[in-house]
Amino acid sequence: MKQKRKINIALDGHASTGKSTTAKALARRLGYIYVDTGAMYRAVTLYALENGWIGPGFFYRERLIDALNGLDIGFRYNAETGTSETFLNGRNVEALIRRPEVADYVSQVAAVPEVRRKLVEIQQQIARQGGVVMDGRDIGTVVMPDAELKVFMTASPEVRARRRYDEMRSKGEEVDFEQVLRNVHQRDRIDSTRKASPLRRAEGARLLDNSNMSIPEQIDLILSWVDEVLGKE
Ligand code: C5P
Repeated sequence: MKQKRKINIALDGHASTGKSTTAKALARRLGYIYVDTGAMYRAVTLYALENGWIGPGFFYRERLIDALNGLDIGFRYNAETGTSETFLNGRNVEALIRRPEVADYVSQVAAVPEVRRKLVEIQQQIARQGGVVMDGRDIGTVVMPDAELKVFMTASPEVRARRRYDEMRSKGEEVDFEQVLRNVHQRDRIDSTRKASPLRRAEGARLLDNSNMSIPEQIDLILSWVDEVLGKE
């Protein structure tokens, strides 16, 4: 049987739509490489925090911009956990980048055009090999506009807030649903209105509204789209 060609898959969409869970599962099922672009923006943010260049009410963006050339950001596969982990200048920062301090500042760092230029360059280099599932906010529009399959994931704000709320509660955090819902609306607004690469549905991207879908259902739907794309070749 002829070996199927490997395509690139771009997954964009709103916060809390299950993009990374879906992207990871797709990569596993297809034997593709998963690239978590949010992790890369988080790694740059961690670097700025560790150097004291960003904090409450200040951001020395010029210092960060000057340091960008010396930054080495990438992923390494951990065979024990079966996942890929984020590395910053040779150091495993996978756990550190998930901390709330990083989440608090990442959108400011991600809005810096020089940061985006640097990370997009790395992402495009990875994409050149093919067989990549990449998730983020600007993958179908900027990073891989030629991806054979582009998906834009969304769900109603209430459903996404409920998912966030349940996740936080399961970690034992005290949260108020209305506050989580306000945060969802606020992130949507920031992501969609920022000047540098705002979140929008790429041309040709298939819309996946998963308000009433389980994760396995959406994975199956995207896999059927992959078959459709490959079947056309
Ligand atoms: O997906 P994740 O929550 O890890 O992304 C962290 C932040 O990085 C997002 O809230 C967004 O501001 C930024 N981001 C981005 N472009 C991407 C991926 C993430 O601006 N391609």
